[in-house]
Amino acid sequence: MAKKISILGSTGSIGVNTLGVIDTFQDEFDVVYLSTFQNNKLIIEQAKRYRPKALVVVNDSNAEDVKEVLEKENIEILIGRDGLLEISKRDDIDLVMNGLVGSAGMEPTINALKAGVDVALSNKESMVMAGDLINNTMNESGAKIYPVDSEHSAIWQCLVGENIEDIKRIILTGSGGPFRTRDVNTFSEISLKEALNHPNWSMGKKITIDSATMMNKGLEVIEARWLFDLQINQIDILIHPQSIIHSMVEFNDRSVKAQLGIPDMKIPIQYALTYPTHALAEWGELDLAKIGKLTFEEKDIEKFPCIGLAYESIRIGGSAPAVLNVANDNAVYSFLNKRIKFTDIPDIIEKACNAHDLVKDPSLEELLELELWTYEFVMKEIDKK
Ligand code: MG
Repeated sequence: MAKKISILGSTGSIGVNTLGVIDTFQDEFDVVYLSTFQNNKLIIEQAKRYRPKALVVVNDSNAEDVKEVLEKENIEILIGRDGLLEISKRDDIDLVMNGLVGSAGMEPTINALKAGVDVALSNKESMVMAGDLINNTMNESGAKIYPVDSEHSAIWQCLVGENIEDIKRIILTGSGGPFRTRDVNTFSEISLKEALNHPNWSMGKKITIDSATMMNKGLEVIEARWLFDLQINQIDILIHPQSIIHSMVEFNDRSVKAQLGIPDMKIPIQYALTYPTHALAEWGELDLAKIGKLTFEEKDIEKFPCIGLAYESIRIGGSAPAVLNVANDNAVYSFLNKRIKFTDIPDIIEKACNAHDLVKDPSLEELLELELWTYEFVMKEIDKK
């Protein structure tokens, strides 16, 4: 029987790559739901090709446009945030691929897990904001998360057949982004174009900026803490500019396992879709002789303060990582809209983290309230810039 799959964020980088992977399997996947933020043209193409039961678009006017074209297709069209939340609650599927961007991805993850549906999770912000709540939800419903983030997929693969108690630490590798060797004194002049130019990975805009500030690695530390139930002092970051080793696990006997591969998101996506099978794939092989050498460096927290802010937030715990995450989302969107400078991003996040009233064990409702509070706080800070 074909695996029934819902793809949230189907027109984004993860969604498109997921459909690309699905295309290489004959009849093994049935695409049941699709969602887009604003890319009507692409979701119409996807709807015609994959014939989902339903799809979600962002607002009424987009829904009108899509309905007109898909009139004869018998596809239910849902609208906006309500539509997304509604579709994420449905349990007539086997797997949700959550390729949504930012904090918007959190509630759909929780909804799917509550409904007993497994989640292939690319939206790391879900775990950053609500890791504890999500783990409790999984315990209650029995549904699972399959990591899609390449580092977490690497750790997951290294841990097949291993015991969590045998882990000394995990080492998350990161390329260091486009500004690894740039003089920090010129960071305030970094342009949007420069920040969007990642050396190794082709990804969506938000995560590309997160990689440039290195907040991406900070968020991944928090994500790993919850995904693998580790203490924060068991999670290290290592800069590895070639992005070939996707992460490592060091065991108590100092034996270290690493997972390697070409930097292509289709590999972790496919593994999440076909787990526990490593299915045959058509992409290029890893040619280590051609690459020649793999190099490593210490992380630089002075240069990339977002890393320190992320560690600090998870040490504080409770609602602190959620506020960090929402502040980061909105600071990054404002940088993408050219409203603030690159160096304003960590500055605004730090202010939001310092100003918020900590909630120890935030419920979903409390997290949603904090999301709004943080958004409003950040917008006021941005107006001052
Ligand atoms: Mg990653």
